[in-house]
Amino acid sequence: MVQYQLVNRGIQDERVLKVMADVARHMFVPQLYRHAAYDDCPLPIGEGQTISQPYMVAIMTQCLELKGKETVLEIGTGSGYQAAILSRLASRVYTIERHETLASRAKTILKQTGYDNIEVIVGDGSLGLPDKSPFHGIIVTACAPRVPVCLLDQLKTGGRLIIPIGNPYNQVLHRMVKLEKGVEDRDILECAFVPLIGEEGWKPG
Ligand code: SAM
Repeated sequence: MVQYQLVNRGIQDERVLKVMADVARHMFVPQLYRHAAYDDCPLPIGEGQTISQPYMVAIMTQCLELKGKETVLEIGTGSGYQAAILSRLASRVYTIERHETLASRAKTILKQTGYDNIEVIVGDGSLGLPDKSPFHGIIVTACAPRVPVCLLDQLKTGGRLIIPIGNPYNQVLHRMVKLEKGVEDRDILECAFVPLIGEEGWKPG
C-alpha cells in the first residue's frame, strides 16, 4: 500500500509514510470488507458512510504538515482510522462524528488499539469545536458546499484547514492557511467525498 499507492503518487513526508505503514487499517474496517482493507479504494463502514481511500488519508494528512506538538480537529470520525493516523503525528486530536453508532464504534476500536490522545465527540462538526479552539489544524473528511467561516475562526494564525468543497458531482480538496490578514487558498486535487451534513454544510435530505 505505502509504496504503490502513496510513494509512487508523490507522498513524500517520511512521518506520514511511516504512520501509514504502522497503523493497522484492517482494524477500522468492518469484518465483511477486511480482505480489502489495504486496497486502493474507500470502503463502506455503515450508515451509508465510508473509510477514505489510503491515498486520500495520506495526502490530507501531509497537507497539515504536522511536527508532533499540534492540537488537531477532525470533522467526520467515520471509522476512526484518520484520527488514529493523526494521533501519531500530533499531540492531541479531537474528532467529531454526527452518527452516534459510528462514533461509538470508533471510540471502542481506538481504545482497543491504544490510541489514547483522541477525544471522539458526537455532534455537528460543521460548527467546529469552539470550546477547544484555536487549533493548529482542522481536517474535514466530508464535502462542504462552501468553506464554513467558523472553522477558519477556530484556527491559529498559520494554522491549516484541509477541506473538500463542491457538490456531489464536482469536488476539489482545498488547503487553506490562515494568515495574519486573510487566507492563502490552494487547490490540491479533485476528490469525491460524502456530504458534510449540518448547519454550515448541506441540509439533511
Ligand atoms: N475520516 C473517516 C475515517 O477515517 O474513516 C472517514 C469519514 S467519511 C468519508 C465522512 C464522515 O463524516 C461520515 O462518517 C459522516 O457521518 C461524517 N459527517 C458528515 N457530516 C458531518 C458533520 N456535520 N459533523 C460530523 N460528522 C459528519
